Amino acid sequence: MASPLSPDAAGTRHPWYNEAGPASWVNCPMRFALLGPPGAGKGTQADLLASRYGIPKISTGDMLREAARAGTDLGLQAKAYTDHGLLVPDEMILALVRERLARPDSGAGFLLDGFPRTVRQADSLHEMLAQEGLALEAVIDLEVDTEELIRRLSGRRTCPVCERSYHLVGRPPRVPGMCDLSHGALIQRDDDREQVIRERLAEYRRRTAPVLSHYQTQGLLRPVCGQQPADAVTAAIIGQLEKRSN
Ligand code: ADP
Ligand code: ADP
Repeated sequence: MASPLSPDAAGTRHPWYNEAGPASWVNCPMRFALLGPPGAGKGTQADLLASRYGIPKISTGDMLREAARAGTDLGLQAKAYTDHGLLVPDEMILALVRERLARPDSGAGFLLDGFPRTVRQADSLHEMLAQEGLALEAVIDLEVDTEELIRRLSGRRTCPVCERSYHLVGRPPRVPGMCDLSHGALIQRDDDREQVIRERLAEYRRRTAPVLSHYQTQGLLRPVCGQQPADAVTAAIIGQLEKRSN
């Protein structure tokens, strides 16, 4: 039986591959990752891009927080790491991603938000996809300087129902304290406090920066300046994804 990972199995190959649509989308990568340091804007951009391309956003951070709220063993074990700004062990993350990619809605493509974050995760992802004759097609690297990251993270407020993120100054909700979409009460994430933010940034430099070099060597890395208004960032990402480079 064909695997749900293969585009034809679920009969859900992305419609723009076959139907009328902007010609530039025909070769557009539909399996790509959004990387960048904490606060770079991955979640914000992932929501916009997932709806533009009609593919699921797969966010390991969202999945871990959902598991912690549900009180599962995995969620509670992961929280011991996330609360200290440390990466969760690769085995736990890979089990989550493997299960998520096997669902039929990933057949037409997917957008990975915040995964892979270690070289081991990148290698395992490669193996998972290769088993299905697939490969990651592009890796967007959102670049933002440290001072701006700290400003963004310390003012971030998040909806625990739909995970949409806001900023107290830069992107306030329409009604203070309430999510525009799900109407959940906004919270400050436990890991968005200054000491933990610094640890997350250090962990990023230690363990995730090598992933960028890894993808650069493979010719997949596409850098985008994340330090411009969100809609300009979206346009720059789309430009990188839709350019006919190959
Ligand atoms: P990440 O998922 O990379 O940690 P988020 O998308 O949650 O980042 O964004 C972090 C914070 O920065 C949020 O408060 C968000 O509203 C804000 N933000 C996102 N993109 C921009 C941007 N282009 N300019 C200014 N602030 C932004
Ligand atoms: P941000 O990009 O703002 O740091 P995320 O929601 O992507 O936020 O991640 C929050 C936390 O969840 C990380 O600090 C880390 O502890 C954990 N996490 C998320 N994705 C991964 C991953 N791929 N590998 C290991 N830990 C992860």
